[in-house]
Amino acid sequence: MHYFLTPEQLMIQDLARKIAREKVLPVRAELDEKEEFPWELMKIFGEAGLFGVSISEEYGGFGGGVLENCLAVEELSRICLGVATSYAASGLGAHPIMLYGSPEQKKKYLPDIARGKRLAAFGITEADAGSDAGSIRTTAVRKGEGYVLNGTKQWITNGGEAEIYTIIAITDRAKGPRGASAFIVEKGTSGFNFGKKEKKLGIRASATRELVFQDCFVPKENVIAREGMGFIVTMRTFDRTRPGVGAQGVGVAQGALDEAVRYAREREQFEKKIISFQAVQHLLADMATLVEAARALVLSVARYIDHEKDPKDISKLSGMAKVFASDVAMRVTTDAVQVFGGYGYMREYPVEKMMRDAKILQIYEGTNQIQRNVIGLELNKEYAGKKSS
Ligand SMILES: Cc1cc2nc3c(=O)[nH]c(=O)nc-3n(C[C@H](O)[C@H](O)[C@H](O)COP(=O)(O)OP(=O)(O)OC[C@H]3O[C@@H](n4cnc5c(N)ncnc54)[C@H](O)[C@@H]3O)c2cc1C
Repeated sequence: MHYFLTPEQLMIQDLARKIAREKVLPVRAELDEKEEFPWELMKIFGEAGLFGVSISEEYGGFGGGVLENCLAVEELSRICLGVATSYAASGLGAHPIMLYGSPEQKKKYLPDIARGKRLAAFGITEADAGSDAGSIRTTAVRKGEGYVLNGTKQWITNGGEAEIYTIIAITDRAKGPRGASAFIVEKGTSGFNFGKKEKKLGIRASATRELVFQDCFVPKENVIAREGMGFIVTMRTFDRTRPGVGAQGVGVAQGALDEAVRYAREREQFEKKIISFQAVQHLLADMATLVEAARALVLSVARYIDHEKDPKDISKLSGMAKVFASDVAMRVTTDAVQVFGGYGYMREYPVEKMMRDAKILQIYEGTNQIQRNVIGLELNKEYAGKKSS
């Protein structure tokens, strides 16, 4: 099915697909095995202009929006979710600057991010503050012409590899939701170091690392928006990046479906191709239906967000896209392993990696339970005061 994409959008999709097949596919198993950050691939993405897909032309990007990002992310995730995560995390780190950065901040950081010259990352999570982001303990205390940051961020994608970090820290706890601020912190800033590098179940080509701030001075020019806007910057960023997590789900699910159909057409048991068994056909049929449904939701939500700019129901819809597509990814990749039988459990075949990789999509950028909380709350608000028909 096609989604009425413009020639420019089709070009982005084709470009990402070509690079994923030609450059990512040959190295994905090795990157996973060695848990190696894909620097060579990041350079190739940068040269091809993929990092600039959603960055405005003024800052050296392509000028697309959420939809264009989803198209690129889906194609990369179809081949390797670990590589796609590293790519998408740079977009996540850049988003606060794209949405709320001053003209000077945009000019200073976005062109390099668009060209892939410098990667970005986003850090809010801490050891005791995951879903409950309001309980972060990293502080930013005003001092002279800037702020002094202290605290440790945990599980930050692109940690150690990125050069530009958008960090959420508490500036005035008494102010509650207005008590946090967003800062740009560059790698190499005195007092900013990297801690533990995680060993993970999946997306092993991506780097997940602690960020440690010890009396780290950040000039006031590096505050994004203004003091007190940290949680708003975070929420608006996630509203626009969560469809991208949905696109990761569509991509990895499509990749698993591709493998499963191919395998079912080749594997013989009882002197027949296993695709001739109705039980296998039905499994594949359900997988294909879910993938298409997830893609339709993700691309519709992305297009709607771009078209309406900042729609009131953005949190609900981007949450729906993330929840649905990531649950589809988990189910479809698990079923792909089933289609492969015992071979699916072995590392020689790509579907076990896809299943391991897919799990993260139900966890990061807000767990699926938290997304369902958001969707439920929004529904309650929408229906408040509505009379029953
Ligand atoms: C590989 C990886 C990469 C990541 N990358 C980044 C990154 O780049 N930047 C960043 O800032 N963070 C990142 N994270 C952090 C990620 O966003 C958090 O792990 C996630 O938000 C969940 O927080 P938690 O792990 O502390 O789980 P918890 O919040 O401790 O939740 C544990 C369980 O309780 C459930 N739960 C908690 N509260 C509620 C509730 N109110 N209602 C219902 N259920 C609830 C959760 O759904 C979950 O099932 C990353 C995490 C991982 C694993």
